[in-house]
Amino acid sequence: MNKPKHDFYLNAYEFYKWSRCLTCDSKMKVRKFCLMIHYQENRGAPLSMLSFNKSCKYCEECDMIVVQKSEIEEHLKPIIVELKMRFSPEKYFIFGTISKKDWLENKKIPKSPQKMMAAIHPFKEVHQFAIQPAGWYKDDE
Ligand SMILES: [Zn+2]
Repeated sequence: MNKPKHDFYLNAYEFYKWSRCLTCDSKMKVRKFCLMIHYQENRGAPLSMLSFNKSCKYCEECDMIVVQKSEIEEHLKPIIVELKMRFSPEKYFIFGTISKKDWLENKKIPKSPQKMMAAIHPFKEVHQFAIQPAGWYKDDE
């Protein structure tokens, strides 16, 4: 694998659209990244490696990519179904990016899984943010 690149956050909060970065408050940009995802239908089943080129929110200051979970699943589900597997949101894992060049080459002539692994930049850090909007707090909490 290559050197780690970018921090990553998979946003499951539909109401929070990340127009500004939660960490540094900069305005988020929109940029395309070739995300590498693996999917395993069951324990012991072969790992499927998938990649897609997707518009993501991106903070230049923090070098952080933010993607809406629902958007990923919208893309991923039909691919998994076409591969004759059952889609379940617990079974995929986004673990890094590949360069546009590698992504395009792989589209033309699929590379071996070993070669794909070698092309991946894993994420530097995968963030977990607990977002609690104002008004969600209850008195007894
Ligand atoms: Zn930031």
